[in-house]
Amino acid sequence: MDKWKVLVVEDDTPVRNLITVTLSAEDYSVFTAASGAEAVSEAASRNPDIILLDLGLPDRDGVEVIETIRSWADTPIIVISARDEDADKIGALDAGADDYITKPFSVAELLARLRATQRRLVHSAAGRSDPVFRNGALTIDYAAGCAWLDGEELKLTPIEYRLLCLLAQNVGKVLTHKYITQHIWGIGWENNIGSLRVFMATLRRKLESSPESPSYIQTHIGVGYRMIRVD
Ligand code: CA
Repeated sequence: MDKWKVLVVEDDTPVRNLITVTLSAEDYSVFTAASGAEAVSEAASRNPDIILLDLGLPDRDGVEVIETIRSWADTPIIVISARDEDADKIGALDAGADDYITKPFSVAELLARLRATQRRLVHSAAGRSDPVFRNGALTIDYAAGCAWLDGEELKLTPIEYRLLCLLAQNVGKVLTHKYITQHIWGIGWENNIGSLRVFMATLRRKLESSPESPSYIQTHIGVGYRMIRVD
């Protein structure tokens, strides 16, 4: 198969060079941009498979760059941020970023995130029109409106089922509290994170063999939740 194309958007030259050298050594095809304007034009002309995007750019906010790219492409965007404030991550995720990584990060961590994103892309390309979702021991039959774990039907309430489907449809992506509450309950529920926690807890008790160390649904404290691709 062709090399994976990664667009690296970072205005800090040493960091950009480090990422470029690392990814090239791992056999990725790397393109770079040092500003928001360059990021948009490179994303449009190179058609990358994955975009690594620093949020603090000299000419415009990274969130604006995400919004612009999202107007035509659903390319996975992994945000790289020196700022570890939750508000920045949440703003980026709500604008359509898929994942985030906080500086300083290790090369191993960066490569692991890229591989996870690649797995997700391969799975979603294979299962795009499949009415049955499979992830480890979990199966969801969207047409039948049922979910199973190890062949045993999960007895879910309607809200738990919708939560599970929303996470499954976005497997590998971090979903913010706001995104989830708006999709499950509609506008006006943004601040009802308490209810979300309660439903998430009951869903996990049914789904996870040990809810304290979940294997399917990851918590991002202060940010949201993500279903992990298990297989
Ligand atoms: Ca920067």
